[in-house]
Amino acid sequence: MPEQPPPYEEPQPVNMLVTCHTEGCPVADVTYQVPMYPNVEPPTYRAVCAQCEQYVTDIVPA
Ligand SMILES: [Zn+2]
Repeated sequence: MPEQPPPYEEPQPVNMLVTCHTEGCPVADVTYQVPMYPNVEPPTYRAVCAQCEQYVTDIVPA
């Protein structure tokens, strides 16, 4: 019998609520639920707004 490889744990995405607050952004104050993978290095969750391309600072667990 070949040795079994150790079970590989797939990282699970976490649903986060992401809200852009950039002034003038078309989706400002609109909250999106986005599945995100935690980063190894802080900040654990990082997102860039798809509309204004600014970093989104308002990221909370769904
Ligand atoms: Zn934005």
